[in-house]
Amino acid sequence: MNLAKPPQAIAAALSALLGRERFLTDSQSLQHYGRDWTRFAAPAPSGVLLPNTIGEIQAIVGLARQNGVKLVPSGGRTGLSGGAMATNGELVLSLERVRKISPVNQAGRSVTCEAGAITAQIQQAAAKEGLMYPVDFASSGSSQIGGNIATNAGGIQVIRYGMTRDWVTGLKVVTGTGELLELNQGLIKNNTGLDFRHLFIGSEGILGVIVEATLALTDPPRNPRVMVLGVRSMAALMQVLASCQAQLSILAFEFFSDLALEKVTAEHSIQPPLQERYPFYALVEFESTSATAETRALEVVEACIAKGWVADAVLSQSESQRRSLWRLREDISETIAQWTPYKNDISTTVQQAPELLRSVDALVSQHYPDLEVVWYGHIGDGNLHLNILKPDGVSVGDFQDRCKGVSAHLFAAVQELRGSISAEHGVGLLKKEFLRFSRTESEIELMRGIKAQFDPDGIFNPGKVFDP
Ligand SMILES: Cc1cc2nc3c(=O)[nH]c(=O)nc-3n(C[C@H](O)[C@H](O)[C@H](O)COP(=O)(O)OP(=O)(O)OC[C@H]3O[C@@H](n4cnc5c(N)ncnc54)[C@H](O)[C@@H]3O)c2cc1C
Repeated sequence: MNLAKPPQAIAAALSALLGRERFLTDSQSLQHYGRDWTRFAAPAPSGVLLPNTIGEIQAIVGLARQNGVKLVPSGGRTGLSGGAMATNGELVLSLERVRKISPVNQAGRSVTCEAGAITAQIQQAAAKEGLMYPVDFASSGSSQIGGNIATNAGGIQVIRYGMTRDWVTGLKVVTGTGELLELNQGLIKNNTGLDFRHLFIGSEGILGVIVEATLALTDPPRNPRVMVLGVRSMAALMQVLASCQAQLSILAFEFFSDLALEKVTAEHSIQPPLQERYPFYALVEFESTSATAETRALEVVEACIAKGWVADAVLSQSESQRRSLWRLREDISETIAQWTPYKNDISTTVQQAPELLRSVDALVSQHYPDLEVVWYGHIGDGNLHLNILKPDGVSVGDFQDRCKGVSAHLFAAVQELRGSISAEHGVGLLKKEFLRFSRTESEIELMRGIKAQFDPDGIFNPGKVFDP
């Protein structure tokens, strides 16, 4: 592998700033830090920078700017769109050492943390004080809050609590000029012109580096219970969603296909939750605040069975059962990673989700009759994850070319419904060529203009989102 070397001028200055142990150029580190969870491009950074402080980050940005060197902001590298990939001699700017979590502010129900703080550690810090940071997903044990904010991460409880954007009350960012901006300072009320905080949320590292965030916290749900329901069709799934929404205090409404269940139960040697197999399963989590809440949930299920939408169901009877049922859904992504899946993360409005499911189903049967297709997702948010598994013996490049051809049809169907080609995972490298299916030319031009304001020399995350 031909890995680039950092330009001599900046290399000397970076060594002086960070020392040898925090400015890495060995090939193992370049491979490790140069990639995220995707496996469709080869990492090729020229160095890895591990600053300890915000001041060091500002100094790095200043040096990069003076020397025309590109930087890739890097969090927990669990991203699924190649946003943190460094493929072209860039320097990886890792936030992993900038990770302090300040004490929870009880009166303000908030917590301030540096960008490299691990999501699960923030959740634990809040839980210790009887509060909750509610954005959660299977990778929260490795992802960083800076990465979550840069991707506006969603996850398994969006139906109840919303996306990362809904919890960020303050941000500190270092822009492409090296300037430190303090955005919204944790305020709940602040109507003083344009709110730049929201530009950085979901910016995928193209405007600058997020270095600190203040997050709102909430009360944890009381007595959450989980049901897994065997469902005969996607149309029935949406009817079940409507019934649950109308009658229960829902925390999550997820779905997965039988192939997803088969892969997870085989991988972890666990029993399927129901006696028989069904095409789809809904995982419904609800708050059970009284004895009647549970009775009502059972009545809802019985009514769905009577209508023929649900075939069978199981309700968690203990916390450990609740966790085991969640694993059936949460372990899917990690389990299928061994097949280098081609991931699609599409969405539409909830009311149009049945139409989306119908169009996608037709496309899948037409174009992938010979391939294994794993469906799952946050269907209560209108968000579907469609994973095409790479067959053995086919090269990653050939497989990707075939899937990309079909993506054009898939995204045209999404566009028809005015949906999104990337609901949660961002655009990064992988969805860049399809951005136009969700955003207009004039919107993309506006994005370019905004980038030029925050990053006038284009040093951050080149080649991502809309950059050629
Ligand atoms: C098993 C699994 C399950 C997942 N489930 C979900 C899910 O349910 N919902 C969901 O939304 N996502 C999910 N993801 C995707 C991923 O975990 C999220 O996108 C997460 O927010 C990425 O955080 P990270 O710290 O790993 O970011 P990285 O992958 O390191 O980076 C992601 C992007 O953010 C930029 N970035 C990182 N840190 C900063 C910073 N400090 N300042 C500026 N830019 C920065 C990078 O340049 C890159 O463009 C899942 C991933 C895996 C592996």
